[in-house]
Amino acid sequence: MIMLNKFLLPLLLAGSLCAQPLQTMQDKIVADGVADRAGYDFLGRLCDDFGGRLTGSPNNRDALARTVAELKAIGVEARLEPFTMPGWVRGDDEAVMLTPIVRRLRVASLSYTQPHEPFEAEVVDIHDGREEDFAGLAAAGKIGLLAANTSVPRGQYETAALKHGVRGILFIDREGGGQLLARTGSFVGEPLRLPIYSITQEEGLWIGRLLQRHQPVRVRLTTRSHCEQAETANIVVCFPGRNADTIIVGAHFDSWDLGQGATDNGLGTAQLFALAKLLKNHAPQNLRTIELVWFNGEEQGLWGSRHHAPLTRGRPVATMLNLDMVGYPLSVNALGYDELLPVLQRFAASMPKERLREGVTNINWFGSDHTSFQLEGIPSITFGAHIDREVVRYYHDLGDTFDKSDPKMISESTATITALVYRLANEPGLSVKRHTSTETLELFRKFDLEKRLRSVGLWPAENPPPAKTP
Ligand SMILES: [Zn+2]
Repeated sequence: MIMLNKFLLPLLLAGSLCAQPLQTMQDKIVADGVADRAGYDFLGRLCDDFGGRLTGSPNNRDALARTVAELKAIGVEARLEPFTMPGWVRGDDEAVMLTPIVRRLRVASLSYTQPHEPFEAEVVDIHDGREEDFAGLAAAGKIGLLAANTSVPRGQYETAALKHGVRGILFIDREGGGQLLARTGSFVGEPLRLPIYSITQEEGLWIGRLLQRHQPVRVRLTTRSHCEQAETANIVVCFPGRNADTIIVGAHFDSWDLGQGATDNGLGTAQLFALAKLLKNHAPQNLRTIELVWFNGEEQGLWGSRHHAPLTRGRPVATMLNLDMVGYPLSVNALGYDELLPVLQRFAASMPKERLREGVTNINWFGSDHTSFQLEGIPSITFGAHIDREVVRYYHDLGDTFDKSDPKMISESTATITALVYRLANEPGLSVKRHTSTETLELFRKFDLEKRLRSVGLWPAENPPPAKTP
């Protein structure tokens, strides 16, 4: 008993002394975060002064410089972390219907589409683009019309189309209303082997109906879009802690070029900005080090995070929190890392119920920058969140503009996010342990992500092995 007391008492005392100020500061951060419009105002300037932030474009470069300057103005020193990646420049994309009527169609080429001379061809419906969809089709020399909701990965439908002599593809948009979904053609940045254009749902379905009636449709295609190496950078801010254990908080800075990238991912870009301000004002020094990173090149294949994550090898990184289109937070997601559950549950319990109605979830998914850190064995976190359907439907489209942004959503979400970051940076008992590559593969398999990662060339076995645990 005496022995126990001797050891336990100081720990208990330290625990209770520690928990109280933590909660007090966390509540202060939330109150100030909710009342501050810094993130929203910053996002308005970023969107309207620079438009879309396609990586490697002059707009993206100027927006990077502005962000660094605006951080400096609020007393936060930021540095650029340069890297190169396979870039892509959008030129004029043109698709004209010639038969049965003459009409310019609304299209946008997929990134990594290469320029080509104009050519005219008949359109043929290739449905989902599976090998079996080509059976009995006379597709040679024609333009393939690809279904909106195909689950066939680009590499696969492109290969099947090429094999059957298809010269170009029109990919029907999954959202109606004349929208165009800009998207990447290749996660590994290889030039596409044939031109692929996103076409509006309305015009795509129109062509599909004509084809069903055996009415010939002829289209002329051409584009000046082209691949070009991009010299770009991430932005990094560091709040050194009392020890080197690090919490990384990231959001992708780049967007597609059609709109302004206000929601995808101006939202995360603004949250990270407002988070920097809150930390600077309330908690510039914490137990652990906090590193904020605005990633470039996410939309074209997670390039910025794939550059940054390996740079952390040998450093004690406790966790990575990814902010990609986090609206009103509903839950905090441990992405399959069971060891994070206790700290996240304590965090959820420390917040008013309405701030995190669904508590803690634990589901891994693929498609944003956290994957790059997971591939390095770093336990990662994100939020489950709500954005109105009428806002989120415009992502990657011309309609992803600042008028859709909601000041309350940005302030409220930033308050919750900053509270979590503060807690992660100060709670005792957060371990720093990277997963081995075997454990990482198991985690992806457990959530049925192997096929997806393989199809985009990111399955770990095809990459250099992740670093060993520091
Ligand atoms: Zn995004």
